[in-house]
Amino acid sequence: MKEKDSVSFSHENSLVDLFSRTISYLRLSLTDRCNLRCLYCITEDETTGKLSKLSHDDLLSYEEMLRIVRIAVDMGISKLRLTGGEPLFRRNVMHFIKQLAALDKLDDIRLTTNGVLLDKYGSQLIEAGVRKINISLDTLQRSRFKQITGKDYFQRVWQNIEQAIEMDFSSVKVNMVVMRGINDDEILDFARISLEKDVQVRFIEFMPVGSSTSWRSDTYMSMAEIMKRIETLAPLHALAANRLEGPARTFRLGENPPGTLGFISPLSHNFCDRCNRLRLTSEGKLRSCLLSDAELDVREVLRQGGSDELIGQTILNATRNKPKGHALGGQAQGESCYGRMSRIGG
Ligand code: SAM
Repeated sequence: MKEKDSVSFSHENSLVDLFSRTISYLRLSLTDRCNLRCLYCITEDETTGKLSKLSHDDLLSYEEMLRIVRIAVDMGISKLRLTGGEPLFRRNVMHFIKQLAALDKLDDIRLTTNGVLLDKYGSQLIEAGVRKINISLDTLQRSRFKQITGKDYFQRVWQNIEQAIEMDFSSVKVNMVVMRGINDDEILDFARISLEKDVQVRFIEFMPVGSSTSWRSDTYMSMAEIMKRIETLAPLHALAANRLEGPARTFRLGENPPGTLGFISPLSHNFCDRCNRLRLTSEGKLRSCLLSDAELDVREVLRQGGSDELIGQTILNATRNKPKGHALGGQAQGESCYGRMSRIGG
């Protein structure tokens, strides 16, 4: 980067919020488009009844994303997760990832994907330096996969997961969102995967995100209940917490399994006090809490010709605006945030 372009936030990390949390992790939603139609994620426009999609102009260009990420990295962001929509579904994604990987000071780029396109991109991702991937999978049954996602891709995704485990990724995680009455009868089948494969299977509490998702308090299942079910299979042994690995509490199931289990409980035991994240949505809104709709429009600043300094200031303001915590508990009673998950990226 040329000298004149650098942002003049000189200290190691200027991104400290009002509650002394250091923000070092940015989740970047590359697109709101997806090749799946998960019933709890993609939402329809309330007036037209059609799928809500951003127009091409609304979407940040790769160049714009790169600029914002570069400034954020200069300010102390060291870990970046690419998400979406489906990040691998955006055209020329590998070219963009290589540009990100070339940024000084950014050595940790991760990806969350539905796994459909991993057969095409797996080795290219490793080559570009993306070593940690999370693959979302909510069922191990082909017909149910089709019901949940709208597409008949189960076999392809499963094959891609098996392949990814054999590849040179340093970490492969499989994320299951547990929904009572929809897939909770598969909790034990998912837990058993960790007995057979070197993978972390993570159980995620269903969150009330998006105005027309299928979230209801009776489809929600708490981490405690999920763990209790798993303990009918074998004892769970807690593993030491690894701060770099984020909010999951990790366990092994029984003795010496190749894989591990992780539990993410944003509602029943929120981890807001340790939250180190900012999110950049696919249309350029900075969001400091997944479950709060307060956002700052960095795209506007950028498209009005804003300097790096001003963009940096917007990132700083988003950090300062980060709420102490979210207000949703396990029985959120219909409260929700309305930002669509597909543009926020989870
Ligand atoms: N397309 C990619 C994928 O499928 O992983 C990335 C985007 S997706 C929005 C990111 C993650 O958010 C997925 O694991 C998905 O299951 C999860 N997710 C979406 N809506 C959710 C909700 N209401 N509660 C909990 N997790 C949710």
